Amino acid sequence: MMKSKQSQKVEADRLKQDELNVWGVTRKNSIWATVLVLCFLGGACATSPTGRKQLILLPEGQLNTLGADAFQQMQEELTVETRRDIVRYVQCVADEVIEVIPKKQQPGFKEWEVRVFRDDSANAFALPGGKIGVHTGLLDVAETPAQLAAVLGHEVGHVLARHGNERVSQAVAAQGLLVGAGVLARDSQHRQTILAALGLGAQVGVLMPFGRRQESEADLIGLDLMARAGFDPRESVTLWENMAEAGGAQPPEFLSTHPSHGTRTQLLSEGMGQALKIYNKARDAGRAPTCEPPRRS
Ligand SMILES: [Zn+2]
Repeated sequence: MMKSKQSQKVEADRLKQDELNVWGVTRKNSIWATVLVLCFLGGACATSPTGRKQLILLPEGQLNTLGADAFQQMQEELTVETRRDIVRYVQCVADEVIEVIPKKQQPGFKEWEVRVFRDDSANAFALPGGKIGVHTGLLDVAETPAQLAAVLGHEVGHVLARHGNERVSQAVAAQGLLVGAGVLARDSQHRQTILAALGLGAQVGVLMPFGRRQESEADLIGLDLMARAGFDPRESVTLWENMAEAGGAQPPEFLSTHPSHGTRTQLLSEGMGQALKIYNKARDAGRAPTCEPPRRS
């Protein structure tokens, strides 16, 4: 629908007002320009869990709100799986992984929330604010609890390393958009971009893969988490092999936004020595998850 000139102007004014409100500054865009320059000159504004420099511009609370809103909307629009054996299983594996997350690494929220969606694609995601979604189709590919833990660890890794914020920040910086996430979230076109940046590209139809460095980082964090939780980290390699196999001509969504199998396997084998040490220590300490996979339907 075409908007009249008048309503366009009203909209523009509203956005401008929001922009000012969101940042709590009045026409002090120069401050933000300075911040950007400092970030670029300094290399970044923050450091990820693996020590990588990152450009982080948005307040974590805004990202968490966006994640929670998107998660809520998905639960209203998609089919939430209610089969108890499936839900219990996914929750069990997720709980084991969540339990070993260093609390200080959780960016600005306390609890994690898990939902299973009835969807044949082999997909999973984790959103800022600690929202984890698993498609039932993933359970055909992640054949064991440890393989499921590998996927969940990877997705949680994206959240712990604040990759969503990093990507939104990059988009904001690249477009010179000095607007807050609150504005972007209300604008449908921007909203899609934001959701894609948060890792929901497959769901909203905007292909915006995580960068290779972010993927590798999530893989390493995931490997560490699964090992800490007492899941055999070697199963991560099997998982990605299964993923590649299931891919065929039409790769599952998860693969289509993730790096090639070879790259991933090499990285995992590099981190495997350390992960096995952590795993053995966890087992010695009595960590032996007993999540029972659901019966095949
Ligand atoms: Zn990923």
